[in-house]
Formats: sequence, C-alpha cells, structure tokens
Amino acid sequence: MAVFDARSFNHHEMVAFRDDPKTGLQAIIAIHDTTLGPAVGGCRMYPYSNTDQALEDVLRLSRGMTYKSALAGLPMGGGKSVIIGNPAVQKNRDLLLAMGEFVESLSGKYVAAEDSGTTVADVKVIGERTTHVSGVLDGQEHGGDPSPYTAYGTYCGILAAVKYRLGRDSVEGLRISLQGAGAVGRHLTRRLIEDGAKVFVADINPDNLKKVEALGAEIVNVDEIFQLSVDVFAPCAMGAVINDRTVDVIDAKIIAGAANNQLATPAEGERLIQRGILYAPDFVINAGGIIDVHYQRVDGNSGRSNAHVEQIAGTLTRIFERSDELGVSTESVAENLAEEIIEAAKEKHKAA
Ligand code: NAD
Repeated sequence: MAVFDARSFNHHEMVAFRDDPKTGLQAIIAIHDTTLGPAVGGCRMYPYSNTDQALEDVLRLSRGMTYKSALAGLPMGGGKSVIIGNPAVQKNRDLLLAMGEFVESLSGKYVAAEDSGTTVADVKVIGERTTHVSGVLDGQEHGGDPSPYTAYGTYCGILAAVKYRLGRDSVEGLRISLQGAGAVGRHLTRRLIEDGAKVFVADINPDNLKKVEALGAEIVNVDEIFQLSVDVFAPCAMGAVINDRTVDVIDAKIIAGAANNQLATPAEGERLIQRGILYAPDFVINAGGIIDVHYQRVDGNSGRSNAHVEQIAGTLTRIFERSDELGVSTESVAENLAEEIIEAAKEKHKAA
C-alpha cells in the first residue's frame, strides 16, 4: 500500500522505514505532528500479519498521540513506532540496538517509550544507541513504568463520567466490567475495588486473571464481558473493541477505559450517542502514562504527575458537555478540540 493512500494517513510530517537484514529488524516510525514539541510515543512490537497492517497501526496510533498530548496540555507532538515481529520469540538485544540506531537517525524528532510488546528494560537497551528515549528513569516510584499513571488517569476519568452521567461522586456500589487484566487493568481493578465497586474482569491470560481474582474481582468469560449489565465498561485490552458486532450488545451506561483506538470507526461513536451510552474518548482518558513520561523527561521525577493526571477529569467533563450541546460524538468533539489547540499554536509560531 502506498503511504499517502493509507486509510490512517493524515498529513503525517514524516514516515520512516528501516529494514535491517543483519538483525532482522523491520520497523516503522511515524511522526504525525510536532507543532507542540517532539513526537513522543511508544515503541510497539507486534506480530503484524503484513506490512500494511503495521503501517495502518503506526499511522493511527501516532495521530492519536498528537491529540492525546495536545488535550493533556503537554508540550509534545505525536509519534509512534512499530517493530514487526513476535516479541515472545523475535525480540533480542541486537534487534533493540538496531531500533535505537533507527530512532537516533531522526535526531530527536521522535522520542521512544515502552508500549505493547516492549518493556522499560527494552527501552533502556534502545537507549544505548540514542538519547531520544523516555520512561526509563531509575529511582522512580514505579521504575519508569507509566501504567500506574495511565490507570490513575482512567480512574479519574471514570469518576468524571460517573458524576456526569449518573450524578454520583463515587463508584461505591457500582457494577464495573473490565476487559484486560494487564498492567493498567490490574492497577485500575485495585482502585475500583478499594472504592467499593463490584468489578468483573475478562482476559485471555489465566495468569493475569489470577492476579485480579486475588484483588477481589469476579472473573467473566471473554465473550460475555460485552453483554454484562453494568454501569461502566472499561476496555483495557486491545483496540477496535467497539465495532459493528459489539456496539449494539454492550450493556453499559458508560464506556471509559484505557485501551487505545477503542472505536473501530467513527460511526460507532455516533451509534453510542443514539444508544445513550456515554463514551470517554480513549486518547483523553488514557493520557496518564504520557503525562508521567513528560515529567520524567523534563525534571527527572514523577512527583508532579498525579496532580496533572487529575486534570483529565475536567477535560473529559468539558468534552461531554460540548458533545451534548452539539449532538456529535465525544470522539469528534475531542479531535476538534485538539486540532484547535494545534492550530492556535501554529498561529502563535507564525506571529513570533
Ligand atoms: P498489557 O499488555 O499489560 O495488558 C493487556 C491485557 O489484555 C493482557 O492481560 C492480555 O492478555 C489482555 N487481552 C488481550 N486480548 C484480549 C481479549 N481479546 N480479551 C480479553 N483480554 C485480552 O497492556 P497494558 O499496558 O495494561 O495496556 C492496556 C491497554 O491500554 C492497551 O490497549 C494499551 O495500548 C493501552 N494503554 C496503555 C498505556 C500504559 O501506560 N501501559 C498507556 C496508554 C494506553
């Protein structure tokens, strides 16, 4: 597929490809927009079935990062990288070092962090060949791992949605379902249970399920999680979870979770409005991790992250209000707001 014709190509500033036969590295870095600052975003490793799929993913994710950082009020642009391959069998030190050289070749326009299929330790190896990495600082409360901050932001976002839609100040007594008991899902489960919610979790990984069961969650079959009648459904596993098969069966008043790219297409966002389901756009509610990555970059510690992460609640409330006023999806309201922020910054740069 030609890059300019790709479905998710959106006037990206740069898309770079690296094929390194020596290490087997096949990777793409997409820089969507650097108006607000360097393009910071995770390095994902995934066994894409073909290059087109990898290209679509990196284009869509990098655009999401632009919007995420803009709405979180961060001086950062949007970028992402993908390594094509199965992390369980193809990830090794030489491959990661080659990825580091690829990142370095862009001279800081792109800054890499961990993502699905990569760990803080992997990004440290990438960082042996480039200074343009983040989320790897030692001595941090969570060892540089942003997922507790993503979970905290998602929790704050759930509270904002619960207040807006149900008029309640806490999740106590509410039924909340989570898809995904990974790093974010586990932290989120713990907070929700501590606050008195009844939490249901589905996952394909039995080891991760055991961990949330130990926290007090009730385990649900992966196919049943959508139909479960709940106050809040929190997707915390993979993208495109709200699609033409699920959008009409989800039995929740609110959808608010951490997974990236939850809506398969914008049409699902409009359908959720018709069904009266309040949807918290993923790139707004899951910004906690990138907020922490920012503080790790600027002042080397996460001490100021939580206060900034809490602002996600106010941003979401403004988006909910505007969506209700205009009768358009929360996703398109959020995208328009982000574009307004970027356009205003462009005007300011021109005037300077
Ligand atoms: P993770 O890989 O630690 O956990 C994902 C979990 O989802 C795993 O336990 C996996 O088994 C499960 N899963 C996969 N497919 C599933 C399915 N079909 N049904 C049920 N469970 C399934 O990832 P994470 O770091 O917890 O991130 C979760 C989501 O949040 C991802 O979409 C990620 O892109 C997004 N996100 C994460 C962060 C972060 O800081 N980690 C930041 C922003 C967004």
